[in-house]
Amino acid sequence: MADVFIPGSLEEAVGFLTDHPATAMPIAGGTDLLVDTRTGRARPDRLVDLSGLREIGGFELDGELLRLGALARIRSIELDPELGRRATALVEAARVLGSVQIRTMATVGGNLCHGTPSAEMPPALLVHEAVAEITGIGGQYSIPLADFFVAPGRTVLAPGDLLTSVRARVPSSRAGSCYLRQTVRWSMDLAGVGVSASVHVQGGAVSNARVALSAVAPVPMLVAGLEDTVVGTDLAPEVLAEAGRQAAEACSPISDARGTADYRRQVVSVLVPRALRIAWLRATGSWPEGSPAPVNGVWTREQR
Ligand SMILES: Cc1cc2nc3c(=O)[nH]c(=O)nc-3n(C[C@H](O)[C@H](O)[C@H](O)COP(=O)(O)OP(=O)(O)OC[C@H]3O[C@@H](n4cnc5c(N)ncnc54)[C@H](O)[C@@H]3O)c2cc1C
Repeated sequence: MADVFIPGSLEEAVGFLTDHPATAMPIAGGTDLLVDTRTGRARPDRLVDLSGLREIGGFELDGELLRLGALARIRSIELDPELGRRATALVEAARVLGSVQIRTMATVGGNLCHGTPSAEMPPALLVHEAVAEITGIGGQYSIPLADFFVAPGRTVLAPGDLLTSVRARVPSSRAGSCYLRQTVRWSMDLAGVGVSASVHVQGGAVSNARVALSAVAPVPMLVAGLEDTVVGTDLAPEVLAEAGRQAAEACSPISDARGTADYRRQVVSVLVPRALRIAWLRATGSWPEGSPAPVNGVWTREQR
């Protein structure tokens, strides 16, 4: 049974973690860490309970800038109507994470810091140009979220470092985003493939686009080089198909209980065009306001 330390400030939390680098771990919602302690994957003697640190909770929009506190709960993201309009991918990713009970406890920071390759938040944040803000004993620093993940279950965080917030860009017009995932079961399952896309439109053509993937590489990844294919186009079917092909080639999935590597690549080649298309329809105002992306990436008859 681990001792629990309740810090009064961020500084105190960092100080305690730095003093006990081998034995103490931060705990936020506990939905990953408590499972890990049961399975023996983590064996902390001391837990630093972050949940009272208001300065790293909540989220706010300031113009095009979204600041998400590390302790922002997944459920509060899912239910926010403004985020639903401006950061649709994020809300769609939040909506499919675990169950209501899990989402009520789970935090954005925990989802990122656990370093799970199939985690929901990373691809949705990567397409919004997210930057991770970290505080450690050496002070504060920021790093693009694309460089935050090192290996399965590992991030750049050193002992004593805490993720404090994530900054993301969420344009208010002519932009759309989307998150789709494939799972073996339709609910309470981890992604076999996760795909997020964002599209900016100017003058009837794509001016900027990003695609990010999860569960198909050791770490969540942005697909590099897609801009050359999609920028300046109106995402005609052949352009979308080429984007899907490039994304499938760029990833490096493994075969496991959720699918073979070949199957996952094929799913990527199908979901990337769909995610880009939905993001485009949202950016151009052609997607019904508030209408969610298809469940499990599969269109219903009404959505076709
Ligand atoms: C039944 C079940 C279903 C789930 N389904 C999904 C799913 O569909 N999709 C999905 O992505 N995840 C899923 N999860 C995983 C989990 O709920 C999420 O990853 C959650 O967001 C973790 O957040 P947390 O606050 O509970 O993290 P915690 O468990 O508190 O912490 C996770 C890790 O991050 C570290 N940590 C936490 N906060 C910080 C911080 N600010 N700075 C530095 N380190 C920190 C902790 O030390 C720990 O190592 C599921 C979990 C369960 C139990």
